[in-house]
Amino acid sequence: MKRVVVKVGSALIAPDGKGCNSRHMLPIAQFIREFQQQGIEVVLVSSGAVAAGRIHIAHGSANPSIAAKQAMASVGQSQLMAQWQRFFDGPCSQLLITHGDLKDRARYINIKNTLRLLLENNILPIVNENDTVATQELKVGDNDNLAALVAMVCDADALLILSDVNGVYDADPRSNKDAQLINQIDHIDDSVFAMAGGTRNHLATGGMRTKIEAAQKACEHGIHTYIINGSDSDSFKAFLAAQNPGTHFVANRSLKKAKKHWLKHTLLSQGSIVIDKGAITALLERGASLLASGIKEIYGDFVKGETVNITAHCGTRILAKGIVQYSSNELQRIMGKNSAQIVEILGFCPSVEVIHRDDMVLLVEEVEED
Ligand code: GLU
Repeated sequence: MKRVVVKVGSALIAPDGKGCNSRHMLPIAQFIREFQQQGIEVVLVSSGAVAAGRIHIAHGSANPSIAAKQAMASVGQSQLMAQWQRFFDGPCSQLLITHGDLKDRARYINIKNTLRLLLENNILPIVNENDTVATQELKVGDNDNLAALVAMVCDADALLILSDVNGVYDADPRSNKDAQLINQIDHIDDSVFAMAGGTRNHLATGGMRTKIEAAQKACEHGIHTYIINGSDSDSFKAFLAAQNPGTHFVANRSLKKAKKHWLKHTLLSQGSIVIDKGAITALLERGASLLASGIKEIYGDFVKGETVNITAHCGTRILAKGIVQYSSNELQRIMGKNSAQIVEILGFCPSVEVIHRDDMVLLVEEVEED
């Protein structure tokens, strides 16, 4: 395991409904530090802004208006960040995103680049929905699904949803003492959703249903998903000892294969980039990213974040496919140039790579099955 996304629900942040509380946050931070010490990169998706800010905004009802919740999120988010930062020696960073951001190709790639660089610099990214600006259409709506999307953006191997319950049970454990925890779910179908009730906690947006939806999304993308009890540090110890204290949703295929399949079959290419001999060797033999200096010609109109084919000559066999960091217009101006010249020509340099290796799939000499 190289990279995990850990999602923490509001009930763990503000268990008494009276602002951020370190009771569960501290053991969760220790759990995250253990991962980091083992060389595993962590992205934290933390709920709790609304719950943390609730005490500061007069609302007079169990179900405040959207505007009141947005104001709560605004005041609560900075408290949430300040509280998390207290538990880590290294820096934490804040990313507030909406579904609209994740659907927009250019913004998606910006989020991806930012996460990549934060992790390379040993910073703990802490993600939440940008509740203040998110209207209904822009919202992911719940942080379980947001965490699954974040896990896909950052190519995580695993998604850990920390909850105030142990995992998925075959019956409601609150009303049925014989209810059994299900340790492993290989395939998510209607019967799995049928076991999930709604949420009972007025601080939380999701429930078991949104967790299973998140698991479904993640598993389809090759990301193993676990629901574990985040209020019980024994479950952290067990997880770190490679035991399964909760429910493990098994990924449908390996992350690498899922990603390759997605890039190869799901994303339609909007243009082609013809590269020189040096770039071909770098890509095929050294596993390098594509740089502007290796580009000879550009075909098609595309924008940053779209998918393009990489070829040796126009109209010949496609060598690779990838998500491009520059538009076709920009590439026309910077092709053949070295990275230092990019900023002189364009006035900015969003990325040294034109196509990052992680966003590329080779289509020649494939030995793997998809
Ligand atoms: N973004 C919301 C918050 O920070 C939480 C949404 C959720 O828990 O699903 O309060």
